[in-house]
Amino acid sequence: MPFTTLRLSDRISLIQETGVANFMRCNIWHVRGRDCDLVIDTGMGLGPLKNWVLNDSNRPLKAICTHCHFDHMGSLHEFDCRLGHRAEAHIFADPTPSAAVYSGDWARIEIVNPKVHPDFQPETWAITPAPLTGYLDEGDVLDLGDVAYHVLHVPGHSPGSIALWDPKSRTVFSGDAVYDGDLLDGLYHSDPATYQLTLERLRDLDAEVFHGGHYPSFGKARLHEIVDAYLRGGQTMGSVIDWYNGVKATIGDVYAPQDWSNASRG
Ligand SMILES: [Zn+2]
Repeated sequence: MPFTTLRLSDRISLIQETGVANFMRCNIWHVRGRDCDLVIDTGMGLGPLKNWVLNDSNRPLKAICTHCHFDHMGSLHEFDCRLGHRAEAHIFADPTPSAAVYSGDWARIEIVNPKVHPDFQPETWAITPAPLTGYLDEGDVLDLGDVAYHVLHVPGHSPGSIALWDPKSRTVFSGDAVYDGDLLDGLYHSDPATYQLTLERLRDLDAEVFHGGHYPSFGKARLHEIVDAYLRGGQTMGSVIDWYNGVKATIGDVYAPQDWSNASRG
């Protein structure tokens, strides 16, 4: 199976690629609406995602990419409707390894399990271009008929990061702007000062459930802990290699499944 699906609620399912390291395994969200469905982020593209989603729904699909990094945009090209922020449009259209952050130390650590993906070649792996077919920006609304998601521009991790916010259910899909792990503010197009403003904004949002780009979903109390730790100078990755070795030493198997039993569901 190229993916696993965990149904969190009638509306929201989590899809994850198999054989990708725990910390790199992007959360792919399938959101069901009355008139159309959303796919939020698309993983590395190691297997065909669109057919996997269509097995579960026959409604029109809109694919949203929260930002242009390789672990989020890999299968975006499969979808006819591809939406993201214009600040990263050039990278979606031409995702060179360095532009999509698959370079340097990120290409040196093992993130794909060779037992599951024997054909994956880390040195030559290329990300398929996925030019955006439309732009999303602050204030835009994605209306699915029985739920409407408001677009938030949440730069810092990357300049065109976006989040989706449903004020009725008080649920946020936050991409890599915030998740329950060490945050990345040192990438080539990251901006820590802007990131801080984004995190303060998310902390002030009256949200109850955060579905991040990685790791299990969480609630308001945990969000406050993460943001406050970041603002105190913690909760960041620093050296990728040192961080990776630390993770391996702590959890042993970097491909071990995540525990979603206590995750917020929304
Ligand atoms: Zn990212």
